Amino acid sequence: MPRLGVLGWPVAHSRSPAMHNAALAHLGMEAWRYQRLPVPPELFEETTRALERSGFVGANVTIPHKQAALVLADEASEAARAIGAANTLTFAADGTIAAENTDAPGLIAALERAPRGMRALVLGAGGSARAAAWALREAGAREVLVWNRTPERAEALARDLGVRAVPAPQPADLLVNCTAVGLEPLQRSATEPEALNQLALAFDQVGEYSYVVDLVYSEGSTPLLAAARAQDVPTLDGLEVLVAQGALSFELWTGRHPSIEVMRRAAREQEG
Ligand code: NAP
Repeated sequence: MPRLGVLGWPVAHSRSPAMHNAALAHLGMEAWRYQRLPVPPELFEETTRALERSGFVGANVTIPHKQAALVLADEASEAARAIGAANTLTFAADGTIAAENTDAPGLIAALERAPRGMRALVLGAGGSARAAAWALREAGAREVLVWNRTPERAEALARDLGVRAVPAPQPADLLVNCTAVGLEPLQRSATEPEALNQLALAFDQVGEYSYVVDLVYSEGSTPLLAAARAQDVPTLDGLEVLVAQGALSFELWTGRHPSIEVMRRAAREQEG
């Protein structure tokens, strides 16, 4: 039985198993199975190296293992190396492990507006911000700005990826939130101005972007997307990006094109 999975710690709330198993069923790939792989950091390397012997063809990698996945891999794509993180591992029969980052092309695939020529502002400086900044730059954004709560991290990201760190959010065509604001239950219940404040944004400022994307997915809306929608700004939520990156990983492992609609429905059914 060819097996797939998602390595994370914790990983209980991942929507990837529902999404990938629905895609496998839809393509009639009954022998395949995608499962959660809860693995603590201290066991990551040992467990991952043993997966191929247990029938695993590939695995997604999520928090906190994305950097470790790149280090462990025997080969890595240019994107994964430039970003410094991998979210997709493929296991060859000879034991070789290949690393890829589908978060970056997944973001571009999910965008309903091509970023070419746009001025983009990325909020955050963690793994997903690095993937977003790299992806937007590669996709031809005119300028990529990065703001982060801890400015030194934005400056390091900017140096590594050839984009520009800014001390405060600036006007842009595209705004992409890659921070965890809106994710934690405490933050989810925070009032909108409080959450926006953590992003150094005021409600009116959100209305000045032409397109607002939030990588965070939570039931209902995030404070940032709620503020954008209230001002009629087009938005994209994190589940769309999750589905797009998942579809690209699926193609890598199976060589088949999954149905985006089937994956989207399965991921959204997990909501509430
Ligand atoms: P990460 O590496 O841990 O980075 C977290 C980022 O959030 C940092 O820039 C951090 O700023 C910032 N942050 C955390 N709490 C904050 C607060 N209270 N106020 C302001 N900034 C805050 O995480 P990541 O892997 O980049 O993921 C970030 C988010 O994106 C997560 O919510 C994750 O679930 C989501 N995500 C979604 C997808 C998708 O497919 N939709 C893919 C990847 C990630 P400091 O540097 O100042 O600490």
